[in-house]
Amino acid sequence: MANDKFSVSDMAIRLPKIGDVAMAEALRFEGKILGATVSRTANRWFVAIQVEVADAQFHRTRTAHGVTGVDLGIKAAATFSSGEAIAAPKPLKAALRRLKIRGRRVSRKIESAKVAAGFAPGAKLPKGTRLPVSGNRRKSATTLARLHARIANIRADFTHKLTTRLCRENQAVVIEDLHVKGMLANDKLARTISDVGFGMFRSQIEYKAKRYGTRLVIADRWYPSSRLCSFCLWKNEALTLKDREWTCPECGTHHDRDHNAALNRQRLATATALPVASPSSNGGATAETVSAVAGKVTPVRYECGQQDTSGQEKNRAHLRALS
Ligand SMILES: [Zn+2]
Repeated sequence: MANDKFSVSDMAIRLPKIGDVAMAEALRFEGKILGATVSRTANRWFVAIQVEVADAQFHRTRTAHGVTGVDLGIKAAATFSSGEAIAAPKPLKAALRRLKIRGRRVSRKIESAKVAAGFAPGAKLPKGTRLPVSGNRRKSATTLARLHARIANIRADFTHKLTTRLCRENQAVVIEDLHVKGMLANDKLARTISDVGFGMFRSQIEYKAKRYGTRLVIADRWYPSSRLCSFCLWKNEALTLKDREWTCPECGTHHDRDHNAALNRQRLATATALPVASPSSNGGATAETVSAVAGKVTPVRYECGQQDTSGQEKNRAHLRALS
């Protein structure tokens, strides 16, 4: 909806054909209004208003300037290099259980509508068949839709708080290449950040990094975050996905898998911060990808020493073979 079609006053929006509609909260941003989109989720109406804001309003101030490596997992939704583990939101589990129950209630009503229409129970309906929708079915479908919306809200709230905190408290955050993890669709281990989807986490942390001027570093997909001993850099080739803990035979350090991975990622940020005079000088404008080689933290670096770009390629291929 173009900005000449509506107008926003304190707590209301004037929409074409409808007129004034009260809003649950006043517009939080000052600036030129560019447009708006009205949407409905589970019988609730929303309006998203696009506002062009000044830089001063866009940028946020950090409260701390740490450097944090992050590991996203299932045991803890997120583990920081500080050792802090963030659990998945509790209401989510309960809501997911209710989802099953409510889903069954709806399908039972669909089943009985089928039988009432003369089909065998469990039969596949011919294409284009429309069953009469009972009032009770409509009601329970609405309840189910509301629960779906609630679950989506819990998940979004969780990633928002997580990504805001990471950007607000750190001058650099190192995350894994989530695209790769997301591709392991069938792997239970790929289900993380409360099944929220990596796209949401990634896009949120990217735009927030810009707002807070936080450097966002994406660890290369070949960087063996879990396999390296974060203390002595010995590489545990035998580590499997099942190993939640392990002890380094070189230095004797006992590792929690997720914490160790977060620590290894944290080092990527400090290693690559060296050529940058001021860590926030790029304003966190773009996420950088750090390969295991560019990160200059693996023992491989010492074997290869100084190298040109082609050397890095070779080196990377070498690492690929290792991982
Ligand atoms: Zn070690």
